[in-house]
Amino acid sequence: PLVLGIETSCDETGIGIVRGHTLLANTIASSMDEHARFGGVVPEVASRAHLEAMTPTVEAALAEAGLKFSDIDAIAVTAGPGLAGALLVGVAAAKSYALGLGVPLYGVNHLAAHVAVDQLEHGPLPKPCIAMLVSGGHSSLLLVPDVAEDVISLGSTVDDAAGEAFDKVARVLGLPFPGGPYIDRAAREGSGMAIAFPRGKLDDGTLDFSFSGLKTAVARWVEAREASGQSVHVPDVAASFQEAVVDVLTRKALQACRKYDVHDLLIGGGVAANSRLRALAQERCDAAGVRLRVPRPGLCTDNGAMVAALGSDLVAAGVTPSTLEIPADSSLPITTVHV
Ligand code: ATP
Ligand code: MG
Ligand code: FE
Repeated sequence: PLVLGIETSCDETGIGIVRGHTLLANTIASSMDEHARFGGVVPEVASRAHLEAMTPTVEAALAEAGLKFSDIDAIAVTAGPGLAGALLVGVAAAKSYALGLGVPLYGVNHLAAHVAVDQLEHGPLPKPCIAMLVSGGHSSLLLVPDVAEDVISLGSTVDDAAGEAFDKVARVLGLPFPGGPYIDRAAREGSGMAIAFPRGKLDDGTLDFSFSGLKTAVARWVEAREASGQSVHVPDVAASFQEAVVDVLTRKALQACRKYDVHDLLIGGGVAANSRLRALAQERCDAAGVRLRVPRPGLCTDNGAMVAALGSDLVAAGVTPSTLEIPADSSLPITTVHV
């Protein structure tokens, strides 16, 4: 069956079309240019942009796949978590398309979709696998017996998400929003061993994360240098901060694999696009005998293909479709795969 996925949880209007795990189209309109000058996503602006972008982005996806509306067999949509107003535009559009086309509707969890998307690139997920979700709003370790049915939370951040830490440290360093890609780039010219920043909760015996102490430590270090009239070498600070984040992430992910005796690790979410995280995770997984899967960077950040991918799994699993009454749930828990 052909599944069309709709993603509007943040600033991206993403439309994906898949057949099984074959990606046929993935079109994205982003309102990030309108938010960047505010240093964060402005909810009202995002909602309006989704409304304006919805029809053209759906039409572009159909054109990319060489399909007509009448070819679509099911609609999947991000039902949460995310910005309430932004989600609502996507959910309302999805209901309209499902009703108008007479096809089933599947409301899916955005975070589970960040995990499911990898199948479009690397085939069916091993059951079970450990998934580390690292994004703008979340940082979690998950045991995933079956991404269509059952996701178990093993640990998560107790304060900032990994992506949030990247974005806040970027601001301290005078880099644009969202800062993750800029830190990644700046860090390539610096040394990750230049400054020893703290590794929060590293050996505390939990699978939780903490990044706010690290963020504060970077800000204090920069302030102290500037106060004493010394220059701040942005690439070294970026690289040392990034090293602290990815060191903790990769160690905890492998601790989870060991604890649950699982030999397949998947990393998803926007921060999984980070080049140093990808390299260090590969190195450490190789040493530990764990198979690593990370989607290509364009599938790590928000997109419609991830929603279509999870929708496709739900269709294949024979899950009962959602009703046309489903709400948009801004705080949908990670363990609720579909609504
Ligand atoms: P959530 O998925 O938790 O709802 P979100 O959808 O806003 O949050 P994503 O689009 O999955 O988040 O990821 C965006 C985050 O990823 C931002 O914080 C951004 O800075 C970060 N990010 C993107 N690319 C990179 C990179 N190369 N290195 C580090 N961080 C990155
Ligand atoms: Mg985004
Ligand atoms: Fe996301």
